[in-house]
Amino acid sequence: QQIHLFQHQPNHDNILKVMKSSDEMKDGALIEVVLSGNLHFLIRPHTLSVHSYRSPAFCDYCGEMLWGIVRQGLRCDGCGQNYHKRCAYKIPNDCTLVRKRKASVSASVNTWNGSTLSLQDSVSSSVSVHSYTRPTVCMQCKKLLRGFFKQGVQCKGMSYLTLPRKTPRSLRAIHYVLKHALQAHSYCGPASLYISSSDAPNIPLMRVVQSIKQTKKRSSTVLKEGWLIHFTNKDSVRRRHYWRLDSKSITLYRSETGANYFKEIELSDILSILMVTRLLPGEPLHFFKILTSGLELLVSDDSGEIYLLLRRLWTMNIDNHMNIHRSENVVDWHTQVYQALTPVDRKQDSTSGIYQVFPDEVLGSGQFGTVYGGKHRKRGFDVAIKVVDKLRFQHKEESQLRHEVQILEWLDHPGIVKLFNMFETPEQVFVVMEKLRGDMLEMILSSEKGRLPERITKFLISQILIALRYLHKQNIVHCDLKPENVLLSSDDAFPQLKLCDFGFARIIGQKSFRRSVVGTPAYLAPEVLRKECYNRSLDMWSVGVIIYVSLSGTFPFNEDEDINQQIQNAAFMYPAHPWSGISHDSVDLIGSLLQVKKRKRPSVDKALSHIWLQDYQCWQDLRQLEQVVGKRYLTHESDDDRWSAYQRE
Ligand code: ADP
Ligand code: MG
Repeated sequence: QQIHLFQHQPNHDNILKVMKSSDEMKDGALIEVVLSGNLHFLIRPHTLSVHSYRSPAFCDYCGEMLWGIVRQGLRCDGCGQNYHKRCAYKIPNDCTLVRKRKASVSASVNTWNGSTLSLQDSVSSSVSVHSYTRPTVCMQCKKLLRGFFKQGVQCKGMSYLTLPRKTPRSLRAIHYVLKHALQAHSYCGPASLYISSSDAPNIPLMRVVQSIKQTKKRSSTVLKEGWLIHFTNKDSVRRRHYWRLDSKSITLYRSETGANYFKEIELSDILSILMVTRLLPGEPLHFFKILTSGLELLVSDDSGEIYLLLRRLWTMNIDNHMNIHRSENVVDWHTQVYQALTPVDRKQDSTSGIYQVFPDEVLGSGQFGTVYGGKHRKRGFDVAIKVVDKLRFQHKEESQLRHEVQILEWLDHPGIVKLFNMFETPEQVFVVMEKLRGDMLEMILSSEKGRLPERITKFLISQILIALRYLHKQNIVHCDLKPENVLLSSDDAFPQLKLCDFGFARIIGQKSFRRSVVGTPAYLAPEVLRKECYNRSLDMWSVGVIIYVSLSGTFPFNEDEDINQQIQNAAFMYPAHPWSGISHDSVDLIGSLLQVKKRKRPSVDKALSHIWLQDYQCWQDLRQLEQVVGKRYLTHESDDDRWSAYQRE
């Protein structure tokens, strides 16, 4: 047997610190004596040394990333584990045990695939879904936990165990069994709508920009290239790079030939570019400023001297004694970048000729393009210009845009955005429309509670349905209805509303169906997800989702189950918060619209006559808007008597 001495260290995670020499023994120390034959197995400190990682590495204690460029963390030569410096004080004092514990964790995860109930005790209270605020890896598979929130399951008992939510399904199942046992949840409305195995809260409403497919063709045409010098408002170091401008970006290469570059500035990130000429005694000095949202670059060419001068200019201290050569090159660079930036045709009868585009007034962007504010030069009215970069899209998508324009040209209704013009260059398409104030999503997200009152929702939904009635009468199905595509005319509480974005719109006859995939994931109807046929009832599904998101400020599904499945089963929940405070009539209309069976969804007229929308207050609000607009298109004379009788009553 061996005798081992441990010193008590109450503040230390290991509490008992093994003593290796008598020097460590201090007055007043509390020493514990252990008789053991195999201490070697029990206590084996890590052999840690500072390590520089070349690829992203994560701490084996807390799972978070090891930040920094060099010397990011400590690596144990024995077991190869990596730790933050801050975590090194907390790690269990045994190099071999870490390996063993890891093995046992994966062993138990494997057994969780079997019966869930028998394992309930072993994982019970210690596991919970966790939102990680920093990049964190799963301690089992070492893969990054994906998502913005609730990315993983965390074990409270062993704080360094994180599991991806997808792999050990049975673990999640156990977790839910427990949660369900503990929390009785209250729902309102008809019970058939609330089939769901999870009571996790719904996903908060957010802007879902459909990710652009990576079909981006690399633009090969270099518009201009050459050596330039720059420094920024954040970094005063003068940097000399080989600049290459193409139709997408400016790339600052380290050399004329190599592919290695220092920085890439997307043209779409550039807010403005400004040519500055300072008159110095003798010669003018040219340089230009590029302004992006986070950075201001000051650019010129020439040698080191200019840098000193530029710095002085930066602080408005012009050194009169410098002798600087005029550089046409810089002026030309500015012109080239400016032309690449300004979304205008350079021919005479172009957008730039008729309209002034304000590149820094971005009204919004979606899956196709960015919409800028602009002005008709001669007549002075405001316009919105959707600029679509053709190089980003495949031919099919490009033709979708032309299709959008064709449909818009055809339509004329106060509830549909008006198209003024369309221009095209080999690289871009410009769609000029009437300018509105913002979209309905912005209105919902910026409202006090993050959701809209019923009165306003009824008012907006009625307008959507009336615009939709017009569309459907023309056999046009919008196919991408969502709050982002519903524009508002003002910041008023009761604004006029217009539908936009007809990029996915289809002409579908009363009885016919189409099949191609359309729309935005979160708003897709079950038939589109299943790649089945669809018709105008597709828009009715979307109206259901819009009512749901407007009233609740959340999507109708939760994060914990597959969203596709939730949509395909139309198994939506109406959690007590906020639905207990919302009328049953609204839930009834939503329920009838969000039906998997297309035939069962009400038509526009039927939805408009639903009891929730047959509301005197709403009728009055719509009448008032008609007066402001100066056109009766939302209500009908034939209803006047009915509503005045109602008022008298
Ligand atoms: P995409 O096809 O790329 O989705 P949209 O036509 O939907 O493009 O426009 C994207 C966003 O730009 C909209 O969600 C809206 O916020 C804004 N927007 C579009 N058209 C206008 C307009 N006429 N007036 C004001 N904002 C607009
Ligand atoms: Mg859109």
